[in-house]
Amino acid sequence: MLRTHTAAPPILRKCDMTSFDKLYINGAWVDSTSGKFIDVINATTEAVIGHVPEGTQADAAAAIAAARAAFEGWSETPASTRGEYLAAIAAKLKERADELARSITAEVGVPFKLSQRVMVGNPIHTFGAYAKLAAEFAFEKTVGNSLVVREPIGVVGAITPWNFPLHQVALKVAAALAAGCTVVLKPSEVAPMTAFMLAEIAHDVGLPKGVFNLVSGFGPVVGEALATSPDVDMVSFTGSTRAGKRVSELAAQTVKRVSLELGGKSAAVILDDADLAMAVKATVSFCYLNSGQTCAATTRMLVPASKYDEAAQLARDAAQTFTIGDPMGDARLGPVISDLQRSRVRSLIQKGIDEGAELLTGGPEQPEGLAKGYFVKPTVFGKVREGMAIAQEEVFGPVLSIMAYDDEADAIRIANNSVYGLAGTVWSKDESRALRVARKIRTGQVDINGGPFNAAAPFGGYKQSGNGREGGVYGMEEYLEYKSLQLRPPKAAA
Ligand code: NAD
Repeated sequence: MLRTHTAAPPILRKCDMTSFDKLYINGAWVDSTSGKFIDVINATTEAVIGHVPEGTQADAAAAIAAARAAFEGWSETPASTRGEYLAAIAAKLKERADELARSITAEVGVPFKLSQRVMVGNPIHTFGAYAKLAAEFAFEKTVGNSLVVREPIGVVGAITPWNFPLHQVALKVAAALAAGCTVVLKPSEVAPMTAFMLAEIAHDVGLPKGVFNLVSGFGPVVGEALATSPDVDMVSFTGSTRAGKRVSELAAQTVKRVSLELGGKSAAVILDDADLAMAVKATVSFCYLNSGQTCAATTRMLVPASKYDEAAQLARDAAQTFTIGDPMGDARLGPVISDLQRSRVRSLIQKGIDEGAELLTGGPEQPEGLAKGYFVKPTVFGKVREGMAIAQEEVFGPVLSIMAYDDEADAIRIANNSVYGLAGTVWSKDESRALRVARKIRTGQVDINGGPFNAAAPFGGYKQSGNGREGGVYGMEEYLEYKSLQLRPPKAAA
């Protein structure tokens, strides 16, 4: 349970590296009307490492009003100038990369090198990429006698999760600002620090007041205020399917646009002609990335029944190379984010055991020698059947489920037997076969034989994994409206 408190911190200032006392609204650092703060916990030491304000509906309303007032000016600012602000933000993020990466490792527990490369590297890239896209994008096109104009949708409420805290923020904020929208950001209350650093950077680069606003707080208070407000034109939400459904329900009352990036239960389909050792090793690594707290993680590994024993052995061996420990040290696997998350993961591991899956390695106990920290053993289950909770629910911890299939059609059927449709992988020596299978998988992205992440490609989900796409030009287009201006054709020459 997150703790809140009213006691004023000993030194009231905007930032002491770990604590942020004020919200960022209309270009200024202001007190929350609550006078309360939310503690931020280090996932490895379990110590309180700082706090952020506990925002209120009134704070959200003030931020929305500021974003509304700033919209006209920002939307009319040349796109290339908007791009210059984004490029300046990218440069400042780069300057502060080490501090940002340390902060995310403390909050989330991700190994520091991964934090530098992915958690901070991606956002630097994202702001840089949208800087270019803003300058290059064709906002107008002639279609017959119409001028089709792309206009920013307006005020955007951005609600983000804790697992890739700055990356998720950057995907929304950079794309929305590039499009000409103004933003109110509500970051996760569990990992909010880098959103505050981003607000400092936005201020430092002189972003006009009200264009970017930051209100920390709890989802049912600040998040719901954004989803409900008639002055918010669009909500872009990343998080659990449960909260995404609630945001959609609330947003429907004002018919605002809703973009949802939700949970997943992605399958790695290893075909019978694949390089099994390579495919299993890569699947385990992708499953355990960020201690399994990655929406696109390949948590179901589908292998031909004839190769099950070999695959199970390879997966167990691969899992055991994931040393657990201090993410600032050499460990490959840090803790999960919180006590609550650890309990959830442990109870799903226990459920896997109770439902009769074969525990190949790991288990629900706290790893030996680690009395503190929200650690979970790297766990692999074999002989997982489709009806089991670990085959259907998003575990969001380092837990892999191996499922055996009979033939290619059976593998595709199992892969698609999920309410989610976010991602997946296909492995085969024959690329055209892998592509054929990938096309049959009902997910927003499929990596073929370890094809790497492409930030310029659209990212998003089918089914209950969400609506809309982030990344590249697709991500920016989410924040644009179409307007058709019909021109009277010139009179035909007499
Ligand atoms: P969460 O749904 O608990 O919280 C996400 C955000 O929503 C937080 O800022 C939270 O405060 C807010 N929120 C919670 N309840 C709300 C409500 N009623 N109204 C408005 N806002 C509300 O999710 P989480 O635990 O922070 O993140 C993990 C989840 O995010 C996982 O399910 C994961 O798969 C998903 N995720 C998806 C993607 C993707 O791109 N598809 C990426 C990252 C994470």
